[in-house]
Amino acid sequence: MVTTVPDYFHDFHCLAGSCPDTCCGQWEIVVDEAAKARYLSVEGDLGRRIRAALTTRDGEDVMVLENGKCPLLTEDGLCEIVLQKGEDFLSEACHTHPRFTEIYGNLQETMLSISCPEAARLLLTREKPLSFLTTRNDAPPEPTDLEPELFVALSQGRDTAMAILQRRSLALSDRLALFLEFAHRLERLTDDGRYFAAQGLSDHYRDQDYCLRRLARLRRKRRGGDFAPLKALLLSMEHLSADTPAIFAALEAPVLEGDEVPLEQLAVYLLFRWWRKASCDGYLWRQAGAIAAGVLTVAALTPLCGSILEAARRFSKEVEHSAENRAALTHAMDGADFSLSALLSLL
Ligand code: SF4
Repeated sequence: MVTTVPDYFHDFHCLAGSCPDTCCGQWEIVVDEAAKARYLSVEGDLGRRIRAALTTRDGEDVMVLENGKCPLLTEDGLCEIVLQKGEDFLSEACHTHPRFTEIYGNLQETMLSISCPEAARLLLTREKPLSFLTTRNDAPPEPTDLEPELFVALSQGRDTAMAILQRRSLALSDRLALFLEFAHRLERLTDDGRYFAAQGLSDHYRDQDYCLRRLARLRRKRRGGDFAPLKALLLSMEHLSADTPAIFAALEAPVLEGDEVPLEQLAVYLLFRWWRKASCDGYLWRQAGAIAAGVLTVAALTPLCGSILEAARRFSKEVEHSAENRAALTHAMDGADFSLSALLSLL
């Protein structure tokens, strides 16, 4: 198995009791079957408290929150289960958070979710362009029905997309415009099974002069954008925090100028997490459009949330961590409101 993680992965340490926004609150904490069996075997006062907190909702075992927090959280913000039984006793979700893993055959990719304040800080306060570390181990690959040629074309495409997004000689809005156009053209080629041409397209977008010529052609299209459809989409989603609808209602079209580095890091983070999902169904535009929409949303949220760290965390919790909201975002990219021209006009 080949494992890939971001270069700051091993710098992460949970803030535990000092965390300003613990992950042991707000959302329901899912308990896997093996952990449930362990939890139910606990005796004494801890066992009674765990049993009182455990319930089944929509076919999943979850911890019922008390005042918006896991009832096993101590006043110091520490986990009673960890204190008494050790970290290995925890459910999979609690043990691994904020690490999120996707497996594609013999590739395992793990990211630190920016819903966690410390993971968001590590990603969004760095200056250096994000890079990734790869290691190999003897673990057997997972069975997969991915189409090999599509997977290879999209993997090469992701490397090119990352190079586009990190080309700091260009303004971020130009990079996002090139990224969107590249993804749109790549999907057309892979849809037609033209994988050799897809490789050629990837090579073109790695060339600075080619990119400058494409930007000159795109200039006319990048005017008069309407932010209302993205705002309406965000407002139509289910919301985790009670104050989110009011914040989304106040969103205005962002200007991607100023300190572009944190938004670049965010774009590469979303690229790493979402682009490869298109290997499963071929719908690359849905993922690419959602990545650009995510960057625009966080940029628009930043003045309302007070900082990009807060904005990114809210976006991650509200959209990235909700399967329904993620699906709503990606499927919206099929509509005219989120076509290539519509998204380019916002940049
Ligand atoms: S959100 Fe992050 S830093 Fe805070 S308690 Fe959870 S894992 Fe630790």
